[in-house]
Amino acid sequence: MSPNLDHLQGADSGQALEIAHRVWWVGHVLPDDPFQCHVYLLEQGDQSVLFDPGSLLTFPGTLRKIEQVLPLNQIRYFVCHHQDPDITAALPLIDAILDRPDAVIVTHWRAKALLRHYDLSIPFWLIDENEWRLPLADRTLKFIFTPYAHFPGAFCSFDPSTGVLFSSDLFGGFTRQPTLVAQDESHLEALRPFHEHYMPSNDILGYALAQIERHPIAMIAPQHGSLIPHHLVDFLIEKLKQLDCGIYLLGQDDTDIRHLSRLNATLREIAQTMLLYRDFRDIATRLLELVQRSLPAAQIDYFVALPDGAILALKRETRFSGAIALDPPEFCHFIGGAREDWIAMHRERRYIGHHHLHNNIFCEEHCIERGQQLTIPLVGRDCDQIDGFAVIRLHQPIEITHAVEQIICRLVEPLQVALEREVIHRSIDQEREKAYQRSIRDPLTGLFTRFYMQDVINRHCAQHDRDQDAEVAAIILDVDFFKRVNDTYGHAAGDRVLQQVAAVISTSSRGTDIAVRYGGEEFIIFLIGKLPVPPEQIAERLRQNIEKHCFEIGNDTPLPVTASFGVARRIPQESLDNLIRRADEALYRAKEQGRNRVESAC
Ligand code: GH3
Ligand code: MG
Ligand code: MG
Repeated sequence: MSPNLDHLQGADSGQALEIAHRVWWVGHVLPDDPFQCHVYLLEQGDQSVLFDPGSLLTFPGTLRKIEQVLPLNQIRYFVCHHQDPDITAALPLIDAILDRPDAVIVTHWRAKALLRHYDLSIPFWLIDENEWRLPLADRTLKFIFTPYAHFPGAFCSFDPSTGVLFSSDLFGGFTRQPTLVAQDESHLEALRPFHEHYMPSNDILGYALAQIERHPIAMIAPQHGSLIPHHLVDFLIEKLKQLDCGIYLLGQDDTDIRHLSRLNATLREIAQTMLLYRDFRDIATRLLELVQRSLPAAQIDYFVALPDGAILALKRETRFSGAIALDPPEFCHFIGGAREDWIAMHRERRYIGHHHLHNNIFCEEHCIERGQQLTIPLVGRDCDQIDGFAVIRLHQPIEITHAVEQIICRLVEPLQVALEREVIHRSIDQEREKAYQRSIRDPLTGLFTRFYMQDVINRHCAQHDRDQDAEVAAIILDVDFFKRVNDTYGHAAGDRVLQQVAAVISTSSRGTDIAVRYGGEEFIIFLIGKLPVPPEQIAERLRQNIEKHCFEIGNDTPLPVTASFGVARRIPQESLDNLIRRADEALYRAKEQGRNRVESAC
């Protein structure tokens, strides 16, 4: 079923070439023509068929090849897949030289409406009036309607006998050199620009491909590019289904299809980048790479306001990790303001230098120190407020073409979303940090909470179990007769006493000590690491410091305050609860023995 095309490798394009049994390529290669329209001849004796005859430029060459196979008068059917002049301009010539009253032009009514303007004597035979099939001597040609790919009445022809699909513009490709047979999967790249450019949309292309797929295709014979052998058919159909189409709409000042195709790939990848990457650093790095494909961009810097109003600058040199901008660029004043104000500034202040506003979307400036730079305000989808700026620095001057504008317009939304996400992440981190601090610090005294103690001291205990020198000792202290302070001077005075006790504890402690507010007027100081002096001695010094301290409670007389102490050194493998229990028992004894003293655990 699949014809062997090996004989066409390097074949002489000056000759008619048989691509399948009694199916001939009779095109004419024009120098420097990227479209190279192919003409095919289906040999059926005096009922032969010619597909897409060609133009006045190519028909003399085509006629010579036809006559290598059979006389022109043997052709009865002239199939025109559409009406473009490169495939139909030869019709008046054929009309003049063909001596065949039963010859017909086989086409769709939509093409007839245009082809009738050639005022030919050859009549039309419409596929849509003939059940989309043409009976021949030994086979029936089938017509596959592929509307809008790329012409409203577009169709393809399928020969069930050889499995050849005469695919018209579909599967057309551009190759650097005319290559009659596609070699491998890389041929997709030859098809890509052609389809992205000519096929109006992915839906339309998908519909056409779905109609085609129903047929047992052995080979595709397109109007442009290369013949597609059987082994590439399924692969290329699948890939074409995923293609973006209609991009010629983007390139108003650019007709280079390959360039447009690259541009389209860049725009597509900008969108994908946003889906694939979450971290702003990754997004920014990737977007710079993408922009560099089309522009000589040296760097892209970002400026955004944090909730507290500070301007965060995210630059490549710091891997976009972000730092507060101490001297932010002038345009940062507009962050948080309306985009209209920024636009008005550029319209009014013409003296600010060589600057030009493009589509009200971004500003191009030529600075003496930094060269050409593009400043893009980042505006959310539903509002007109500027959330931040992206600044693209170019290392060589360029002309801002429509394609460049397209890229920049496409950048605005993803960048705005990425920056907004980054600011939200940062504020969440800040909030989380604040919440954590709240959970580990007692609000009245600023000392650590029991919650923090559990976590941290248990880790020190584990370390002590591994290393005898990493000692842990607990000094628990309880303010003596504290209830009296409350009762005599009020709760607020009591609070002030507790704050001052905490302050004495803090100033009397080493950096490695961990002071915890354990309960109402009870505190524990954990001594961590090798102890230079016995913990009782440290407790005694603290006791004296509290005793000596002048406690201010808002009246003139300083209040005398004392505390009782219990001290325990951790025994290896001992639990934190047990360590505290032993210290607490010692404290109880200190209370019993008269208060304002230090007792050691057993
Ligand atoms: P002792 O010498 O036996 O420890 O006597 P005490 O009065 O210090 O002990 P007690 O346990 O009877 O009283 C402790 C008081 O501390 C009771 C409670 O109202 C008060 N208290 C607990 N937390 C706070 C606080 O945050 N602020 C104030 N002002 N008082 C507190
Ligand atoms: Mg108490
Ligand atoms: Mg007490």
